[in-house]
Amino acid sequence: MRYSKLLLPTLKETPAEAEVVSHRLLLRGGFIRKLTSGVYSYLPLGLAAIRKVEQIVREEMNRAGAQEVLLPMVQPADLWRESGRWEKYGPELLRFTDRHERESCLGPTHEEVITDLVRREIHSYRDLPVNLYQVQTKFRDEIRPRFGLMRGREFIMKDAYSFDIDNEQAEAEYRNMYDTYHRIFERCGLAFRAVEADTGTIGGSFSHEFMVLADTGEDTIVICKDCSYAANMEKARVKPIEQPPESVDLLECNKVETPGKRKVGAVTEFLGISPKQLVKTLVYLADSQPVAVLVRGDHEVQPVKLGNLLGAVEVEMADDKQVFDVTGVPTGYLGPAGLKIKLVADREVVAMRNFAIGANEKNYHLINANLGRDFEVDEIDDLRMVTPEDSCPECAGRLELTKGIEVGHIFKLGDSYSKALNAVYQDNQGEEHHFVMGCYGIGVSRVVAAAIEQNHDENGIIFPLPVAPFQVEILNLGLKDKAISEVAEQIYNDLEKESIEVLFDDRDERPGIKFKDADLIGIPYRLTVGKKFASDGVVEIRKRADGHTIELSPDEAVRELASMINEEMHSA
Ligand code: ATP
Ligand code: MG
Repeated sequence: MRYSKLLLPTLKETPAEAEVVSHRLLLRGGFIRKLTSGVYSYLPLGLAAIRKVEQIVREEMNRAGAQEVLLPMVQPADLWRESGRWEKYGPELLRFTDRHERESCLGPTHEEVITDLVRREIHSYRDLPVNLYQVQTKFRDEIRPRFGLMRGREFIMKDAYSFDIDNEQAEAEYRNMYDTYHRIFERCGLAFRAVEADTGTIGGSFSHEFMVLADTGEDTIVICKDCSYAANMEKARVKPIEQPPESVDLLECNKVETPGKRKVGAVTEFLGISPKQLVKTLVYLADSQPVAVLVRGDHEVQPVKLGNLLGAVEVEMADDKQVFDVTGVPTGYLGPAGLKIKLVADREVVAMRNFAIGANEKNYHLINANLGRDFEVDEIDDLRMVTPEDSCPECAGRLELTKGIEVGHIFKLGDSYSKALNAVYQDNQGEEHHFVMGCYGIGVSRVVAAAIEQNHDENGIIFPLPVAPFQVEILNLGLKDKAISEVAEQIYNDLEKESIEVLFDDRDERPGIKFKDADLIGIPYRLTVGKKFASDGVVEIRKRADGHTIELSPDEAVRELASMINEEMHSA
């Protein structure tokens, strides 16, 4: 492709609205343009990168035995009513009414549509198992669309849905997809990790998120340095602790004045104790029901764990007014002793002795409080966030907290949708059973953004070869010099003959601009034809990733590039 003919509008200035590096570089590099909030046009370079990801996804999904379909984006409300999600999905679902007053929505995901299709078309165990996938635009009316392709309202997803006869078959397919996702992200040239994710009510480890490791990721993940354990923060388990020695004497519990000391830091400093010797009492609203949660002073509540314990879907922290309304105590002085609402405690609290708590009275705390003697709780569970001080729940090894970008998610659905939509097949006895389902998503457009978050420097993008829009960029630095231009053209033709994807910068621009743009758009290999060809008969190959350069004759350069690219593409 000739640069002079390509819609590649690079920008010198960094657009003010772009907060993260992938967003900045995708805009500056002329890959995408914003139409409206969270909705982007893909320009040729942006689309080329997306197509690369799609191609890898398709090849691996097909190899895994899945079949490609393309489902409608417009979905009838009645189907969503059948699954119960018309009511449950909330404002992320973009709903509208057509000229016949029929209610519809734009698909944020396709469980309903695929289950409807399969219940109509597949009736016998003989036609199972089946795994159907599509690569398609999704619409989610995200509350905060941001970071460009990272969190759009409209974005491209690969979604797959499997239908199996029983749990065993469904779990085998889950493992098949787990392996397939590993191959996909490896082939994309990304550093990633599969982490255990929360399954809500399903339980077991039948949900994994695939996280591209990048400091700028929105998600925190927990990785064991000593074994393969990895989980996201919602799911990361805390290793159960041993009981403290029985010999710890229980001291007398006393009320002490703590004037104006509401925060853990202020209270513990005032009392001359460590935050590890204080228990916080925090009020949450779980599906609108108030619940007080006890955690050690230096720990944080994990709301998803709390929701799972209580069987609640929406869990949020109560604000000061709500806390006062349900307890009659101002925030900062709440404590478990004498509190009238439901009380649950993190397991760690069970191991504590002689700790401080709020006295349920403004400006007072209790010291040397003890669970069982001074107060009781309704339930005890693992309710807190893991910290780097914790040890691995599997091997007791060292944990590390790191940042990731969720690019894929696999989930064993079980029969929740097939039951809701009454989707059944007949077994060999003619008996009907509900399909056992799984669903498997990849944020295709987000993968491109994640690849950039992980691979860039101050000058621009450093695309991993497998997802780069072009493999080589040729810079002709002597447009007015016949010999230089001829050999640049020759190299361009020769590389194309080798089926290498080439961007040929044939613009009438200064070398400085060409170099800058090349660094910005991040094509993995740069081939420069300039004065050195006129003087020494050599051209220069430079690798974007490490700046390594070599000078070769034009013929050798073509051979060398072809062999380097082939080797790199086939090593993944
Ligand atoms: P998130 O927690 O980031 O909102 P999700 O859990 O809602 O993601 P899924 O429903 O599992 O996402 O969707 C599958 C994949 O689609 C995600 O792993 C992610 O890569 C991608 N994705 C989800 N929402 C968006 C979005 N708003 N913009 C771009 N990609 C997205
Ligand atoms: Mg989401």
